[in-house]
Amino acid sequence: MSTPKRFFVPEISEVTDEIFIDGEEFVHAKTVLRVEEGAEIVLLDGSGKEYSAVISKIEKHRLTAHITGATIGKKEPETEIYLLCGALKGDKTELIVQKATELGVSRIGVFNSEYCSAYMNENKLERLNKVAREAAKQCLRSRAPKAEYFENFKAAVKSAENYKNKMFACEFLEKSESGFENLTGSTVLVVGSEGGFSHSEFEFAKSYGFLGVSLGKRILRAETAAITVCALAAYSLGELK
Ligand code: SAH
Repeated sequence: MSTPKRFFVPEISEVTDEIFIDGEEFVHAKTVLRVEEGAEIVLLDGSGKEYSAVISKIEKHRLTAHITGATIGKKEPETEIYLLCGALKGDKTELIVQKATELGVSRIGVFNSEYCSAYMNENKLERLNKVAREAAKQCLRSRAPKAEYFENFKAAVKSAENYKNKMFACEFLEKSESGFENLTGSTVLVVGSEGGFSHSEFEFAKSYGFLGVSLGKRILRAETAAITVCALAAYSLGELK
């Protein structure tokens, strides 16, 4: 039997036993996954719980499912990783969001910065959140990281105040001030856009407790750097073992 299909739904309360799925998730269920009445599915409400359910009715614009049980999802990361990355051109930010979600990132901030030439709008941000939800379902997570946008780089840096490890991938740093060995605790990772960072942006982040990390003597593309730091942090925190 194949793994039950997974769907994100609004928050489910303890007394709910019947749920309707409409909109984007319904269209996906009906036209792409071709679910049928009687099928067992899993509902995710973003709380970390997973609800088993059975589809009782499929109509033109919605389906009805009956909840049969609830468990706590077992695939969520133990430690919080927050990725802050510059907005990239084309659909490259989507690639980062997809891979970061698979690697166990819990929160994603996309920022504008001095040398950033990509733009974001509501539609693009919603698209990023959709990519995060799809990736979360595919890799069996019960939560999708929320993508948010910071028009101002300083606001992005300030949003990371409460994290234990603050790492800044800096392409013009000769020597790392911090490494990925033996990390413990919540971790925030900053990676620039195609244009990279200005020295004053790096200094500003340092004044907020960030330490610079070098990813070696070659300059990586922004998306390579972002995926690499997520993988290194996730590995060090024990999430890839
Ligand atoms: N335009 C810049 C390169 C930007 S690369 C230049 O020509 O120098 C995009 C981002 O990836 C950088 O801002 C940094 O966060 C990260 N990055 C790429 N290579 C890196 C390296 N060797 N060390 C640390 N960070 C790197």
